[in-house]
Amino acid sequence: MSFDQLHRYLFNQAHVRGELVRLESSYQSILDSYAYPPVIQQLLGELMAATSMLTATLKFEGDIALQLQSDGPVNYAVVNGTHHQQLRGVARWDESLAELPSDFSQLFQKGVLVITITPTDGERYQGMVALDKPTLAECIESYFQQSEQLATKVILRTQQTANNAKACGMFLQILPTSSQATDTADTGFEHLASLTDTIKNEELFNLPAEDILYRLYHQEEIEVYAPADVIFKCTCSRERSANALAAVEKSELLDIVATEGAIKMNCQYCHTEYRFDEIDVHSIHAGTFAMDTSQNQ
Ligand SMILES: [Zn+2]
Repeated sequence: MSFDQLHRYLFNQAHVRGELVRLESSYQSILDSYAYPPVIQQLLGELMAATSMLTATLKFEGDIALQLQSDGPVNYAVVNGTHHQQLRGVARWDESLAELPSDFSQLFQKGVLVITITPTDGERYQGMVALDKPTLAECIESYFQQSEQLATKVILRTQQTANNAKACGMFLQILPTSSQATDTADTGFEHLASLTDTIKNEELFNLPAEDILYRLYHQEEIEVYAPADVIFKCTCSRERSANALAAVEKSELLDIVATEGAIKMNCQYCHTEYRFDEIDVHSIHAGTFAMDTSQNQ
């Protein structure tokens, strides 16, 4: 059975779409990138599963970022996903605390969930909802209810054992094209949502996807699409960092090289460090840096 896959399906008669995602090695990769405490590991797993499922709702090429911000113990957590199902993420919290609260709502104060959709071609769109529900899943449901008036069901679960970590999610949403979008009773949405709610952790974490869909929806007419692989991959590169430096005054960059020996840029997601010396600064500002592949990482 292969984890790290996203399954999309459609309830033909109900105008409702569904998704099931299970992450294992992609989730483990994010956990390996930094020493996160268990409660942050769980949060990142839920964010990864949610981001993967939301990315799959895009009708165009681009990416989605799910970002949590607050004044509480967790200042910032973000997972970014592309239409190719490449995920990356990072979280920052108050590391001076001996112990973090285990309750979702206590991790945040004045918390907000910001969802940013960035099409490859086109305008960036940003929406926001308060983190005022007991779980991240319910906050995402509330986001769709408020911003798009679309009835949405979200399930997010993670599991950490001595051997591995798994993050799973399920997503149901009334199709935006449905003329009955606001009337959940007529579309059968509530019925499908309550069926979905019966999923048990042991099923979600262990059964093949086909078995899960059969157990939940064998009395429904369902069309299942080919699954998509989900991977952990950072989109940072030495070249992208150089492009960012091209926007900074050359004299300013040379000053940094003179005082600190090199310009060091750290990727906030994967913690890779990119270093640029005086020769690099000259080639960046001469516009010839992109051709210099000798130092690419
Ligand atoms: Zn990176």
